[in-house]
Amino acid sequence: MDSVNSDLEEYARRRLKLAGFSVIGYDHPYFAPLDRLRSDFRSRGDTLVSFANYDYLGLSDDARIRNAATMAIAEFGVGVGGSRLVGGERTCHRALEYDLAAFIGVDDTIAMVSGYGTNLSLVGHLLTKGDMILVDDLAHNSIVMGSRLSRATIVEFPHNDMARLEEILKEKRSHFRRVLIVIEGLYSMDGDVPDLPKFIELRDRYNAWLMIDEAHSIGVLGKTGRGVTEHFGLDMSNVDLVVGTMSKAFVSCGGFIGGKQVVIDWLRFTLPGFVYSVGLTPTIAASVREALDIISRETWRVAKLRENSRYFADRAHALGFNIGDAISEGIIPIIFDTSEKAMLAARALLRVGYYVPPIVQLGVPKNKPRLRFFLNASHTKAQIDGVLEALVAATDPARQRAHFSSKAHL
Ligand code: PMP
Repeated sequence: MDSVNSDLEEYARRRLKLAGFSVIGYDHPYFAPLDRLRSDFRSRGDTLVSFANYDYLGLSDDARIRNAATMAIAEFGVGVGGSRLVGGERTCHRALEYDLAAFIGVDDTIAMVSGYGTNLSLVGHLLTKGDMILVDDLAHNSIVMGSRLSRATIVEFPHNDMARLEEILKEKRSHFRRVLIVIEGLYSMDGDVPDLPKFIELRDRYNAWLMIDEAHSIGVLGKTGRGVTEHFGLDMSNVDLVVGTMSKAFVSCGGFIGGKQVVIDWLRFTLPGFVYSVGLTPTIAASVREALDIISRETWRVAKLRENSRYFADRAHALGFNIGDAISEGIIPIIFDTSEKAMLAARALLRVGYYVPPIVQLGVPKNKPRLRFFLNASHTKAQIDGVLEALVAATDPARQRAHFSSKAHL
């Protein structure tokens, strides 16, 4: 395999370089060994403290969830052997969907094997030629790709720019049969939120549908973690479709869609990613049900996540870091002016025990590379102080001496 330096190899080398890897060769701060990552570490030798995982409520190691998964394997095995529509479903499938519906406050939900695939299939399925999709230009790649699949006209509006969205609706609405507006509940790269009441108002005024991807907002926003509607004091009856993933606050994997009964019934018989794909494994159904139960009872988790996020944001701000428009709930970026600085900072953090991968080029504007921090309910203040101190040391050693002459805060 190594004798010919093929065109493809040359191409791949160029693309890697463009992605910024040439700066640090292969000594890069990605693909950290997960077995060594802990967000609840207690000074164990070579473990890394992770700010890279969206285990927002600190449940990834929870013994009750492990136990629920193990019992499900013992009782039902590891797979379900077919699409639920034609191969049949287990009671745990519908039980999970009812629990998810009750948690987020919708009539019903439908659960699928991938969060990414849920957006891809749903957006691709909802609309077709002659329709229009209005999508926030920071929306997740799965939404963008789903829009392309649909063959509808796609119009991106600048992130959270309500005036521009309204102009587009005013100018174009009458040219299309159906219009779907797609936004996220909490944006995964910036940690900011949409102006939901205004989106609802525009949706109503221009007779559109509103879909919210709540991948990062469920379990995080609102007093009890019900998501962006709770954050704004609204309920789900204001939203046409909500999409979530089970890979974030619920610490497993898979996606789900929530909405009115007839809409979910229609999707259950027609949505390609559901109809033509295998049903969820019993382990996922059981572990997510257990996570939902824990989150509903242990409300301190959402509160602790909020406290940690605010603490991090206040400290970062005081140290002069740029956190952009983050509202300090779960996701907080620290924005750099060059990809190289972000990459080098991430590598420096990794060397002293903190895993925070840089986000450069992919998913963020090229001029706003960043370290994206996921906070969680298990982080300690000492870990937050520690990573910020290490970041100051990596980016500005002179400033470090001024700020951290005393270690009393650690
Ligand atoms: N939507 C958003 C906003 C996401 O950030 C992600 C992935 N992080 C997904 C959907 C896809 O979810 P999953 O990783 O569970 O497939």
